Amino acid sequence: MRVRLSAESVHNELVQRIEEYSGQGLMACYQCGKCAAGCPVAFAMDMLPSQVIRYAQLGLVEPLLESKTIWLCAACQTCYTRCPKGIDLSRIMEALREIVMLEKGSHINYDALTSEEQADWPQQAFIGGFRKYSV
Ligand code: SF4
Ligand code: SF4
Repeated sequence: MRVRLSAESVHNELVQRIEEYSGQGLMACYQCGKCAAGCPVAFAMDMLPSQVIRYAQLGLVEPLLESKTIWLCAACQTCYTRCPKGIDLSRIMEALREIVMLEKGSHINYDALTSEEQADWPQQAFIGGFRKYSV
């Protein structure tokens, strides 16, 4: 992928919002990959945790807002304990989910689930999901 970089593009409005909502400095990451290597959910992600922060560093936020990764992050903070720069990626994932919910509405429509799905899904999934999936 060819990326055209400028001061404006790498510090665009969405990047500023990620840093504001998460309280994390994106540029502190030096791409060592320890977060991705230890993430217990990485096998299911379409974008590794280290890739999430790299895209954000480059100002490429839209692909992050479309990725499944931000919804799969379990906020376990394994990445945080492994990061030599003390970056809390779970906060960055949460910031990205907030932006999606503010810009695009709910991630899923609970009312659209069938009564069978509502009965079958574990309660924990609903409780976790309400936090992620509702505005
Ligand atoms: S562990 Fe920290 S410094 Fe290393 S890639 Fe992940 S976020 Fe960046
Ligand atoms: S907080 Fe999210 S990104 Fe970090 S290790 Fe846990 S599941 Fe992976």
